[in-house]
Amino acid sequence: MARKFFVGGNFKMNGTKESIKGIVKNLNEAQLDPNVEVVIAPPALYLQLARDELTKTGVEVSAQNVYNKPNGAFTGEISVSQLKDLGVHWTILGHSERRTLLGETDEIVADKTKFSIDGGVSVIWCCGESLQEREAGETIAVIERQLAALAAKVTAADWKSIVIAYEPIWAIGTGKVATVQQAQEVHEAIRKWLRANVGDEVADSTRILYGGSVNGKNCKDLAKEKDIDGFLVGGASLKPEFVDIINSNQ
Ligand code: PGA
Repeated sequence: MARKFFVGGNFKMNGTKESIKGIVKNLNEAQLDPNVEVVIAPPALYLQLARDELTKTGVEVSAQNVYNKPNGAFTGEISVSQLKDLGVHWTILGHSERRTLLGETDEIVADKTKFSIDGGVSVIWCCGESLQEREAGETIAVIERQLAALAAKVTAADWKSIVIAYEPIWAIGTGKVATVQQAQEVHEAIRKWLRANVGDEVADSTRILYGGSVNGKNCKDLAKEKDIDGFLVGGASLKPEFVDIINSNQ
């Protein structure tokens, strides 16, 4: 089953009105592979600006996080219905920075994922192991634990609204990209797990992105692997080379 290549840009807590306008202008004017689905995730404060400035078809805006409760007394949080009010139909969830710095557990992330999908917002769901876990040979066990928590919360139909991002924590923002073999091995294991625990259709159709120090140079080789269906890009999504990453599957 053909899986449409998917590239997400995670701006994290970076950018100003001016710089985000510049990034969007660059995307609007670029030649982008029409066979790629692109989303950019600016900080929540700039979602509206990014939406307003984007004119390119095939490029959408994503939040970096959302809360798993309806509107109400949740100071500092943003809701799924507020995202939809802005015309935002994607969110990242479970990024390792939120898991490690803000204490989001597998269960919270799974709960947020279910809540978002039920509200009509698709999810880039992140997973990945720490360096210590990799060195202890626990990589696949960690990913499977994270997947199991997710699968326990979502229905078979919900997987249509999920894109998985495998992001080894030791590769995020470190310039230390996983080797093509390391990435492919984990992507293959994720697909195998989906086949065994969810079903063939979900295993064949779910996009699995790689994230962690992806740049304009290393993206092409990674994109060739059969189980790598795109990227979640941090630092390089703020730079013009993001276009090369979007076009890496050509
Ligand atoms: P990086 O971040 O590309 O800067 O390593 C990736 C991510 O955290 O999504």
